[in-house]
Amino acid sequence: MKEKRISFLFIIFTITVLLTACDAASDNTSNAPRTYTHFCFDTVFQLTFYSSYQEGEQNIADTAFQMCDKYDQLFNKYNKESELYRINSHPLTGAKVSEETFELISDSRYYAGLTDGAFDITISPVTDLWDINKNPHVPKKSKINKALKYVNYQDIILKNNRVKLSYPTQSIDLGGIAKGYVADQLKDFLESKQISSAIINLGGNILTIGNNQGEDFKIGIKKPFAQKDDEYSATIHIRDKSVVTSGIYERYFEENNKIYHHILDPETGYPVENNLYSVTIISDRSEEGDALSTATFVMGLEKGLSFVNQSEGIEAVFITKDYKLHLSDGLTINDKQEIHITNE
Ligand code: ADP
Ligand code: MG
Repeated sequence: MKEKRISFLFIIFTITVLLTACDAASDNTSNAPRTYTHFCFDTVFQLTFYSSYQEGEQNIADTAFQMCDKYDQLFNKYNKESELYRINSHPLTGAKVSEETFELISDSRYYAGLTDGAFDITISPVTDLWDINKNPHVPKKSKINKALKYVNYQDIILKNNRVKLSYPTQSIDLGGIAKGYVADQLKDFLESKQISSAIINLGGNILTIGNNQGEDFKIGIKKPFAQKDDEYSATIHIRDKSVVTSGIYERYFEENNKIYHHILDPETGYPVENNLYSVTIISDRSEEGDALSTATFVMGLEKGLSFVNQSEGIEAVFITKDYKLHLSDGLTINDKQEIHITNE
């Protein structure tokens, strides 16, 4: 009898902001945090202000949401109006693009070089085959191999505000970095409006501004595949930093009892198969955290951890499939599973 094939798409946020006793205050004082929510980049964008209430806060949140929509119009390859869509529709001539799109693609190429192609935005024709967001399924191996031949970040040509590619079958997918870049732009905007304490949560890319009334912000790393929503492998205690997780329990489907997730190995064209459930990167800027969480996941525990330990200004938590945590050199963990950055 033919085996039953089932495919479902599971989408889960791997990290979340933990409330503290003072956050949960039921009195409506001006010091209680306020959360504003918007939907963009096919995900939930939450903006929480921790600083005392300011006149015009709603307007600031609305402007941040408009910015997010604007970036969606530039970087989302599924959006037919986007600049990226224009590049991908005519890869050889490419398109003249905004400064932001040019910068993001140029940064992406930089991270591809830095990670020796573990992070590669030209993976796009392969992500199209897996179609994880719309019609998740296992593609034919021959199709994967054909698409894989043209995955090469060195074929991206950036000149005079124009982005183009070297072969007609090539295209770009910014899904592994765009949310990080956008979170950074939003942080810069909020700081320009004198917001001194807030959290930007863009679909699980968390970027903190300042601290929580003199205390650290507490960011929970969800226990992979936990049944309950409030089970955490650890909490990260930070201020003014970005926390980004890439994991296999984030976005995946099952077919014939096998899990297929959304982080692809540019060497094979298949979802990365190693002993990791997730990698969380702590960094100053979220763009870096986003690119490097995807890249170090692809590298695997040993190579990924040594990459982080050799890099300035980033720390990482790797969770292996036995639920063990592996921390980079600049982190400590106590018996309550609270993670701190050493010397901060
Ligand atoms: P999320 O989008 O859930 O935040 P990631 O930042 O880990 O997760 O990025 C995964 C997304 O990046 C995929 O959905 C796909 O669009 C793209 N992608 C997958 N594999 C790679 C890769 N090796 N290099 C660059 N981008 C990738
Ligand atoms: Mg990423």
